Amino acid sequence: MEQADLRHWENKCVQEEAPQCTASCPLHVDVRTFCSLMAQRRWDKAWTILAKTLPLPGVLARLCNGPCKSHCVRKDAGGAIAMDSLERFCADNAKPVAPPRPLPNRKKTVAVVGTTLTGLCAAWEMARRGFDVTLISSDIANSLAYLPIDSLPEGTVERELANLEKLGVVVNDKETLSAKLITSLIETYDAVFLDSDAAPALSTEYGTPDDLTFGTQITGLFVSPKGETSAILQAACGRRAANSIERFTQGVSLVSNRELEGPYPTRLFTSLEGVEVQAPLIDSGNCTELEARDEAKRCIQCECMECVKQCEYLKHFKSYPKIYARQIYNNESIVMGTRQANSMINSCMLCGLCETICPEDFSMADVCLAARRTLVEQGNMPPSAHDFALRDMAFANGEKCTLVRHAPGTDTSEYLFFPGCQLTASDPDGVERAYADLRARMDNVGLFLHCCGAPAKWSGRETLTNYVMTELRTGWESLGKPKIIAACPSCIKELREGLPDAEILSHWSILSALGVPETALKATATFAINDPCAARHDKVVQDDVRALLDKLQVTVVEPPLTGETTQCCGYGGLLSEANPQLADIVTRQRAGTMDEDIVTYCVMCRDMMAKTGKGAIHIYDLLYPETGNRADRAAPGYSARRENRVHLKEALLSGVWQDADDIPALPHESVVVQYTDKAAAIMEERRILHTDVQKVLYAASQSGKRFVHSESGHLLASFRPVVVTYWVEYEPVDDGYLVHKSWSHRMHIKGAKA
Ligand code: SF4
Ligand code: SF4
Ligand code: SF4
Repeated sequence: MEQADLRHWENKCVQEEAPQCTASCPLHVDVRTFCSLMAQRRWDKAWTILAKTLPLPGVLARLCNGPCKSHCVRKDAGGAIAMDSLERFCADNAKPVAPPRPLPNRKKTVAVVGTTLTGLCAAWEMARRGFDVTLISSDIANSLAYLPIDSLPEGTVERELANLEKLGVVVNDKETLSAKLITSLIETYDAVFLDSDAAPALSTEYGTPDDLTFGTQITGLFVSPKGETSAILQAACGRRAANSIERFTQGVSLVSNRELEGPYPTRLFTSLEGVEVQAPLIDSGNCTELEARDEAKRCIQCECMECVKQCEYLKHFKSYPKIYARQIYNNESIVMGTRQANSMINSCMLCGLCETICPEDFSMADVCLAARRTLVEQGNMPPSAHDFALRDMAFANGEKCTLVRHAPGTDTSEYLFFPGCQLTASDPDGVERAYADLRARMDNVGLFLHCCGAPAKWSGRETLTNYVMTELRTGWESLGKPKIIAACPSCIKELREGLPDAEILSHWSILSALGVPETALKATATFAINDPCAARHDKVVQDDVRALLDKLQVTVVEPPLTGETTQCCGYGGLLSEANPQLADIVTRQRAGTMDEDIVTYCVMCRDMMAKTGKGAIHIYDLLYPETGNRADRAAPGYSARRENRVHLKEALLSGVWQDADDIPALPHESVVVQYTDKAAAIMEERRILHTDVQKVLYAASQSGKRFVHSESGHLLASFRPVVVTYWVEYEPVDDGYLVHKSWSHRMHIKGAKA
């Protein structure tokens, strides 16, 4: 990822934008933290939040009229948080704190002339930043008399004036404010600020100050605009003057990047969904401790996190996309050393839900897929992440499984049935029946058994993806470019992207037009529908599937996230390969959102759900049923999936084309093996295939090399076909072997021979 890309993604995610209250507060009080502390009755800590931001906090916290209230998100769910009352309560009940410690001295002198709240706040702000400030007034003790200071506890103003002096401000309050005085100050000080409400007539002598900077025609003289009556806006004027003078004394631009001074619009999106409507608990008057606590509790702690709320993967890594984008950028920037984000990069399901629900269209899928491609390109992709899936794809696209033919007895194809490698692996009989049905009711339907290349794409292998697509194009063109009928949502998506000149139809749209097969099972049952994430934006497919289910007399229940906002089952993006534990969490979470058994039209969704014990059927189970309750059918294991593909090809060749597969069997394929239940379960978990075990046992029988366990009599043999070494503990039985244990590793044992 280039730095410009990082900036682009960072800018898209608004999670770190200020909440409406803070953005609309002229001084940007951290209202969210303040409310959170108040809700815990931590008044002293809450006061430090106010005192950190407000100049003369004892005065301002009591006189603030709460301009944030008209922007508070809570106002649409009962009423805005009574922030002004909470501030006042906090000021009255918290332990006062000392004024902040100034920054190191800058050796710059500033004269502040006039001591309304504007001048006092400007002096406070500049003293904090390390300026030598002289405050010039004719009568500082009475300078705030114009404010409703009767409402302040006795001594408040005096205490804050004393704090100003503690900050290092030198007070000269016996001066007559005049033009002569200003002229002499300009000559003596690095900068001068005139508080025009303290000397309205005098301030007119310097023209209208610039709105943004308060600068005047006299270099080094800054004048506030007249007539501001709100205490908090006067304080904001003081801060703006301080900002300008700081820039002026540093010799930097007075105007650039000042958009975030004073109230500004924020992009933070906060949903009110699920927020209970609750009216404010306190008015502008005084309140009790409990009332203050409960009012603060009404703050919904605004944030976005819309994507994180719905995605287990985003939740799992305990942050949000803006942070992830930075981590991915840092990960890619490492030339040597340890990469920390590989697991995060490889765990996104690439399902597109975040982009659909994000108010700014942040696509974590795009970020992660691009990062995977870079890792592959740089040679930094951990081999274990996708190795098994890619080997499985290679097998599905190998000669034992692929088939591309016109329908028997024809030499043209108007249509081409493309069931995809997972449907053929999980439900070969359903595929056989589906192809027979299509041939019976439509003319010239050819067949194409192949994988669509999704695993190559998801793993970030662009060259391999292009290679698979070239194979697909060759097969499709060899049959005269027929319309493709695909029965898997991922295949539909990948084929539409990879073969843009082909017409790709869904099997369900075809059946919607043809009508359901006569042999279809009328379920008269209720199922929750699970839209696969690959069909998220395919409304036509979603509608056609629902229409078919209606014809099958199925009552459909929509889960909370459905259609365009459906969640991935945990298979997408090869999550179940890269991070099986997280995939399990994702699948169980998704299954848990539906009370009923599930009907879906992606066989991987069906199998993933079924593995958790959830009742789940694929729509083929109704359209092309065999006997028995298909919702209880176990998901086939990895070895069975391979065998299903091979047997399907053999069955179709012999049954449909009366042809035979002339691919010679490999020597290890004749080895007969049985497994204990424990061994079978471990093999499934570790992605060790029946054929891997057969290779080990065949090699051991040829070489005679194996260990013998002296007590159990079990044999132990190993074999390293490519990069993985397989170990098998077994014993000979009648006509073959019984396997007790099997494991694998990528370690190469020195001195060992393959
Ligand atoms: S939905 Fe997620 S990515 Fe989008 S702005 Fe919100 S937190 Fe950021
Ligand atoms: S609900 Fe709380 S965080 Fe949100 S805008 Fe209102 S005060 Fe601020
Ligand atoms: S898993 Fe899906 S929703 Fe979650 S980040 Fe990835 S693409 Fe977005």
